[in-house]
Amino acid sequence: MNAPAAPFRREPAQIASDTRPVRAEAEEAVRTLIRWAGDNPDREGLAGTPDRVVRAYEEFFAGYAEDPSDLLRRTFEETDGYDEMVVLRGISFESHCEHHMVPIIGKAHVGYLPRRRVVGISKLARVVEAYAKRLQIQEKMTAQIANAIQTELQPRGVAVVIEAAHQCMTTRGVHKPGVAMVTSRMLGAFRDDPTTRREFLAMIGTPTARTY
Ligand SMILES: [Zn+2]
Repeated sequence: MNAPAAPFRREPAQIASDTRPVRAEAEEAVRTLIRWAGDNPDREGLAGTPDRVVRAYEEFFAGYAEDPSDLLRRTFEETDGYDEMVVLRGISFESHCEHHMVPIIGKAHVGYLPRRRVVGISKLARVVEAYAKRLQIQEKMTAQIANAIQTELQPRGVAVVIEAAHQCMTTRGVHKPGVAMVTSRMLGAFRDDPTTRREFLAMIGTPTARTY
């Protein structure tokens, strides 16, 4: 397959609609992978599989159609001067690692220190979702969530901690179940002020004490 010239990378990372394969091509690719696995895509049990896999992909990768910045644009300014930490703890997500395309299952904890504007808490969860439903590495996803919140809300600080199990580590390769990877991105006051950072970390609890 010849890669089309990419003069710039769009954010969110979407491919131009004229280079996106049609559904039949995606289903054919699944049939190829079934044959590669050693099975017969024409046997009865697998007949509907390419269709189901392609539909599952629409769910797994729905984030490419979402603009996380857009989700954060609707903010509320009537906060009666509330300027303490806002923390959304334990946002479950499912993502897929971009190296093996197998699930990353985990939880995200998101906090920010408002500067006049706050955003509906469901929006924070949807931002996590919009970045999770893509091919990801956990480090990048952590930074993307923090950066989007920082850019759109311009708060005094943002903290994102993500803890997740990577099925590429548990079901293949080194086969290490029960290992959680923890990543964090601290901006503004969460980076500069140890007290603020400690307060946030106390609110979310000890990540490594949990399993998935
Ligand atoms: Zn992987």
